Amino acid sequence: MNVRNCKKCGKLFNYAFGPQVCPECLGAEEELFQKAKKYVQDHPGCDMQELSGEIEVDATQIRQWIREERLQFADNSSITIQCEKCGASIRSGRFCEKCKNDMSHGLKDAFGMNKPLQKPEKKKRDPVENKMRFL
Ligand SMILES: [Zn+2]
Ligand SMILES: [Zn+2]
Repeated sequence: MNVRNCKKCGKLFNYAFGPQVCPECLGAEEELFQKAKKYVQDHPGCDMQELSGEIEVDATQIRQWIREERLQFADNSSITIQCEKCGASIRSGRFCEKCKNDMSHGLKDAFGMNKPLQKPEKKKRDPVENKMRFL
């Protein structure tokens, strides 16, 4: 069994997958998120201060949701986050369009290690293995 400390409250819990947060904190966060989402739907022009005050959650958490592309705002909204690379204002995700374009060129090098599925796939397609199976 995999027991870990919750990143939010520090409590020990049985960790299975996903964020390292205990079920209680995860539930509380989900509740807040639903509140935030509803508030944004009802008040598309709200700003960060208003939103965080209204649902009693700090701006850091709200930005996190925006980064995870769970929360989205209207094009004329004043709420933005910063591109992790160049600091430009963006409305969702981690990088601005320009940095995304720049990165797609060097994608293989930069994210090659983030593809754990690549190895087993390669093995399946191995011609020697296939041949042996059919012999
Ligand atoms: Zn917790
Ligand atoms: Zn950028």
